[in-house]
Amino acid sequence: MRCLIFSRIKRCCSKLLGKSQPEAEQIHRVVIPREQHSVSRKQICEPALKVLYRLHRSGYQAFLVGGGVRDLLLGKSPKDFDVATDARPETVRKLFRNCRLIGKRFRLAHILFGREVIEVATFRGHHSNGTNPQHSKQSDEGMLLRDNVYGDIEEDAQRRDFTINALYYDISDYSIHDFCGGLHDLEARRIELIGDPETRYREDPVRMLRAIRFACKLDMQITERTRAPIHPLRELLREIPAARMFEEANKLFLSGHGVATLAMLRDYDLFRQLFPQTEAAFEDPEYGPDFQRFVDLSLADTDKRVAEDKQVNPAFMFAALLWGPLQLAAKAIQAQGEFNEYDSYQCAMNDVLERQLTTISIPRRFTAIVRDIWSLQLRMPQRNGKKAYRLLEHNKFRAGFDFLALRARIDGELTPLVQWWDTFREADKRQQGAMVREVSGGTRRNFRRPRRRTPRRKPSGAAQQ
Ligand code: ATP
Ligand code: MG
Repeated sequence: MRCLIFSRIKRCCSKLLGKSQPEAEQIHRVVIPREQHSVSRKQICEPALKVLYRLHRSGYQAFLVGGGVRDLLLGKSPKDFDVATDARPETVRKLFRNCRLIGKRFRLAHILFGREVIEVATFRGHHSNGTNPQHSKQSDEGMLLRDNVYGDIEEDAQRRDFTINALYYDISDYSIHDFCGGLHDLEARRIELIGDPETRYREDPVRMLRAIRFACKLDMQITERTRAPIHPLRELLREIPAARMFEEANKLFLSGHGVATLAMLRDYDLFRQLFPQTEAAFEDPEYGPDFQRFVDLSLADTDKRVAEDKQVNPAFMFAALLWGPLQLAAKAIQAQGEFNEYDSYQCAMNDVLERQLTTISIPRRFTAIVRDIWSLQLRMPQRNGKKAYRLLEHNKFRAGFDFLALRARIDGELTPLVQWWDTFREADKRQQGAMVREVSGGTRRNFRRPRRRTPRRKPSGAAQQ
């Protein structure tokens, strides 16, 4: 079936093939009728179909667009379904009781069905058509600060990021509309930015991250013209609001292709823009190689969990990515001689998180867990008296234990400690008592918590977190 679609596409797109993207931009609409493509309504979730049909029956155009169409054509199951329409956001709100309008920069309608959200975007137009700063606003560097100029479907296609993301499934006759050669690029497995790449990256630097993400997720090649400006423009990512970066970081590292994504981000020197401290720790001649292996193991575990449809928590990922910077910062603070090992760690936790928050705004509910995971690393070697029982009751014990086990895969000296906890948590009361008595002779390793002494340098981030 796929071959059939693509041979038909080749004929349809013959005018576009072999031409450079700017030429291809002279928009040609290629329509693939239902009987010549493989996308079926059965593969589209019920809520998305409801939204599409209600828009259509109310007299508006309604298309499934973006990852939903792309992934179905590739035989993958889409992460979510996005809808594009000529109805304005306010109209969409009137049509759906369960609708809320979100986003100032890019106004969208979210239609809620329990936990499921269908995103409905009104067709965007060119910015030269928008003189009202309420709708269209651009920074001196060309970044779009507001992208709410409405247009028709042809313009909307050109405003999307990659050709493979500008395919529209029409609910009125189940055909697929391709304006930018996306079907051909899907077949050729190419990530191709629509329009002039430098302008498009300047408009929205996040597109650089998206290029890498799709290349890794879909196992496709980024074309030369789309790849070339990334490295020179990489620092534009620093302009992106830290809150948006949090969403992007999750998509990059928690979508099941984290190991490959990290490697490619580092190749383009993009990772440094998101996690400057982590990149510096990777580059540390002494500590860097082990830390890189540690992060790779952590991301490989996450990728495996995603593949098995298990839950993944962003906090664990941040705890792992910032573990190296924490070690280096703690060492540097301790070397100044003002604090002992334990207090140096406390100060370093605050410093590292505070610095990270300037590029990625990690919500407090996650930084609290990051701190718990890190603190448990200090506490888990101490098992005498009642300590082991208390730690077992800690509500982040499981995450702390998994983190310790991950560390032990790099540092074999930690293996006996991991084994001890593994046995202890499964043991009955009598066996646990014996285990605690055995270690109460003073077998602490790594961290010796000193008698209470208030650090003179106040752990600065504590007030903010
Ligand atoms: P996935 O949902 O699998 O991550 P997606 O392509 O659906 O991939 P979304 O973030 O859901 O990605 O966006 C939906 C669609 O909106 C995209 O396919 C693309 O057409 C458009 N889009 C999203 N972000 C941008 C952007 N920064 N610039 C231009 N178009 C964008
Ligand atoms: Mg999507």
